[in-house]
Amino acid sequence: MRITLIEPIPLQIPLKVPFKTAKAEQLTARIVLIKLHTDSGIIGIGECDPRPHITGETVDSVLAVVSAYLAPALQGMELSEANDIRKVCAQMDQALVSNPSAKAGIDIAAYDALGKSKGLPVYALLGERKRKALVSSGFTDLGSRAKAEQDARKCRELGCSNFKIKVGRDWTVDSERVDVVRSILGPDIDLIIDPNQAWSVEQSITILKQLKIRNLACEQPIVWDDLVGLSSIAQAVDVPVIADEAVRSPFDACVVLRLKAADIVNIKHLKSGGLCRGLEIARILQQEGVECMIGSTMETGISSAASLHLGIACSNLKYFDVAPPTDFITEDIVKGIEWKGLSVEPSEQPGLGLELKEELLKYAIS
Ligand SMILES: [Mg+2]
Repeated sequence: MRITLIEPIPLQIPLKVPFKTAKAEQLTARIVLIKLHTDSGIIGIGECDPRPHITGETVDSVLAVVSAYLAPALQGMELSEANDIRKVCAQMDQALVSNPSAKAGIDIAAYDALGKSKGLPVYALLGERKRKALVSSGFTDLGSRAKAEQDARKCRELGCSNFKIKVGRDWTVDSERVDVVRSILGPDIDLIIDPNQAWSVEQSITILKQLKIRNLACEQPIVWDDLVGLSSIAQAVDVPVIADEAVRSPFDACVVLRLKAADIVNIKHLKSGGLCRGLEIARILQQEGVECMIGSTMETGISSAASLHLGIACSNLKYFDVAPPTDFITEDIVKGIEWKGLSVEPSEQPGLGLELKEELLKYAIS
């Protein structure tokens, strides 16, 4: 089977409510759907989730690089076994540096197409099935204390085992939100505070040293490219540090390990360039006995299914921070994966196990 055409389709889907972090406020999910066509007639689907403040990409930049660089570089490439996807990723990296979310959409579509042609679910192309199902983290964005309270109560009812709280404004206000979530969830649920790069090194050390909360970790407190600073924090405090924006590639993961800059790493295909590189990062961490988290962004069921298949095949997974898409977007564009509360299992159908909804084109950006 060979790649004949890569078709990028820009979509804009309204969010149920605005999504707030210390870095940005978002009203819509702006994504690029990828259809990867092959000479066998099989079409793989993937999704690019460009985030300007994370990877420097936008919907327009993704459309430009897919059309001008990535699609021409992959034209005619063989897609018959899992190793061919490594070659596809290497070819994309040779054609263009960076641009990970553009590459991720193509990588995901290639796995979907290959799975469909071999009659295998994507997780089976990534490795062995390590677990039957995954339970997502609970979550509250940078909203009010009442909103944090409401989100924590909902997650307690659904049975979460860990809960992420966006922070990064005034710490006095944020810490009250953390306390209220802790009081609702009890002492045994892991809490993850995520300032999304809003703190300084000194501020991070001061805040994390004074925290007397058990089972709490802190994700990406400082600016993404200060790995030395992240290392200073990780060495100075007892709270586990999670690297998110700081790790975009297998190479970044090696540097973080060498500097002992994090205790856990958050892998997202939008940063890593897809599932192939995401799995490479997970394996590098595993060799050093470090666990990972699989994270998400404002995305549709295509991206979350890709993360689900990666999580099922990943040995050293600690947290699965991927929410049901319709917790955020008003409507999903695919069918095929059923969430039961926070719990989700991959379909045994070939590829990602998804079907595009006919009506999705109403979200197309012309
Ligand atoms: Mg994060």
